[in-house]
Amino acid sequence: MTPPSPGSWHWLDRAGLQLVVDALRRQGHRVIGPQVADGAIVLRDLASVTDLPTGWLDDQDGGSYRLRHDPTAGTFDHVVGPHSLKNFLFPARETVASFARDDGTWTQAPRSAAESPLAVLGVRGCDLAALAVQDRVFLGSGYVDEAYKARRERLFLVAVNCRRAAATCFCHSMGCGPSAGPVFDLALTEIGNRFACEVGSDHGAAVLAAASEAGAVLAACTASEIDAAGAVPRDLGSRMHARQTVNDTPSPRSLDTHGIRDLLMRNLEHPQWDEVASRCLSCTNCTLVCPTCFCSSVQEVADLSGDQVDRERHWASCFSLDHARMHGQSVRSSTASRYRQWLIHKFATWIDQFDTSGCTGCGRCITWCPVGIDVTREIAAIRATDGAAAPETGRGTS
Ligand code: SF4
Ligand code: SF4
Repeated sequence: MTPPSPGSWHWLDRAGLQLVVDALRRQGHRVIGPQVADGAIVLRDLASVTDLPTGWLDDQDGGSYRLRHDPTAGTFDHVVGPHSLKNFLFPARETVASFARDDGTWTQAPRSAAESPLAVLGVRGCDLAALAVQDRVFLGSGYVDEAYKARRERLFLVAVNCRRAAATCFCHSMGCGPSAGPVFDLALTEIGNRFACEVGSDHGAAVLAAASEAGAVLAACTASEIDAAGAVPRDLGSRMHARQTVNDTPSPRSLDTHGIRDLLMRNLEHPQWDEVASRCLSCTNCTLVCPTCFCSSVQEVADLSGDQVDRERHWASCFSLDHARMHGQSVRSSTASRYRQWLIHKFATWIDQFDTSGCTGCGRCITWCPVGIDVTREIAAIRATDGAAAPETGRGTS
């Protein structure tokens, strides 16, 4: 057997994938993987590959998500669900500090014991791109978030190359998929009832070697088999670019990103902001499911005695009135101004701030918006009438 090393490819069957999961667990990882729960495919603790959603497909569209059982579907033919890596690296709610009062003196409790390192199975190209975006925010913008850093440094990624896209996917437009990369420990391409597994790191090679020692059969992929595996996401990407129906799913979304920053910045007073506001509920769903949104708020929570206080950080959303409250009032009091803030930050000012788009084309904000508001259609509507905006008057959007 060719020993696994970065850049090598090996065939892995389902029993072998289980031995990879077992090897990660023996190394102390908390293993997370996609599973069917509550009518969706979500990320949860994974003990057995039999819990993976083999034979399940997700039909997604604006404001719509349905699971469908298809006995011909593989293990990873679903696409992204409501969860992403964000849920685990930057949890929705966590205690960041605790304080106790004794005899009138407050002391800060030592941080709790280190968490188990995370290993996540089934990560798609769009979510690897979102991870790179969040790395810039939490690690590279002059302030290092220690909790994120501790999880990120020990994260083990088992990526998946997509061979199916949902109607809400537009990763191809954002340059973020459907191929997985560039950073992963292992990457799987499902072919028939086995996986072509590319090794992406020394740690990935060590885990695959440990699975092999435990009995996994690792046949080396031939050059033509590697070519065939590489063609799987490439062919999907070509069909997405051509906006062809992908398998039996309606054609995916697409977004013209040419000059998008300047397009949006010169249309701050476009009537489309008011049109979308007439439908938007300011419910915050789009920001909660977005794998790159990073806003948070902090509150102190005391116990009934008042002698114990936890400082909790929780996700915040720019769709909340309180998000922009200054001097006793919100500076974005209208829904139009809040939607505009969100979309323009994602697709324009994020580029100024982090030198990258804040969108990876995962489509979650389209699927999970209860009224089906669709960023690709809103931006297309602005592009179609670029220059039709009223002169700047401050009308309606503050
Ligand atoms: S803005 Fe929407 S499509 Fe883009 S990354 Fe966020 S949730 Fe995904
Ligand atoms: S765009 Fe949709 S998901 Fe986002 S706040 Fe408005 S109604 Fe909610």
